[in-house]
Amino acid sequence: MNEIVTDAVVLKAMDFKDNDKIITLFSPSLGKVSGVLKGVKKATAKLKFAGEPFCFAEFTLVKKGELATIVNCVEKEGFFEIRKDITAFYCGCVVLEIISKIISENQPNPMLFVSAVKTLMALSSEEYDKIAVLIKFMLTAFQNFGMKLRFDSCSMCGRKNAVHWFFDVESGGAVCSECSQGLPLEENVRKVLYIIDGTDLTRLSSYSCGEVLLKKSLDFLSDVFVRVFGYLKSLPLPAEL
Ligand SMILES: [Zn+2]
Repeated sequence: MNEIVTDAVVLKAMDFKDNDKIITLFSPSLGKVSGVLKGVKKATAKLKFAGEPFCFAEFTLVKKGELATIVNCVEKEGFFEIRKDITAFYCGCVVLEIISKIISENQPNPMLFVSAVKTLMALSSEEYDKIAVLIKFMLTAFQNFGMKLRFDSCSMCGRKNAVHWFFDVESGGAVCSECSQGLPLEENVRKVLYIIDGTDLTRLSSYSCGEVLLKKSLDFLSDVFVRVFGYLKSLPLPAEL
């Protein structure tokens, strides 16, 4: 019997047998890890909260054979506020999906874990523009995978002013129209991504550039993300947001 104790965030929960759920966790030291939460669908279940996406807790897993069993869970933060606001909920789901997509089993990533928890905290707070927070997380995720996207100047010739901008997915940078033509990148979107990239998450609460421009910037970044990492079911933005 092999017992593991780890902090983790619940990425998803899937029904299993009559009363159980299979929970997928993101642990800083283990990467993605799954475990069965037994009897969690019963009304009296003590660890019901552990079967909810976003739950940040210390989990104890016991590994016997193929699938681990979650035997204990001490909650640190449930991030329930995220469920009360449709934009926060959508952004939070995208964060969990991004992690699910880019992190594998046995792939520790403490930096991305810290960034994920801080992002969920910001999404729970009324002080932040939720879409700006999601954009910041995506930029951090790219950087975490060795792709620091560049929006400050043309990544080929270095000029800071251009009539038309494009984005070169391969090099991960904005390019002026004289150097190359990749994905069209509007000047105001380039500026938003440049500012958010250079602003610490804690200082992002005072940032605002208008909803339309933020959504446009998220759409652009989502397009880049899908080209680099592949399809995500939560993207693009739902029309009601
Ligand atoms: Zn150029």
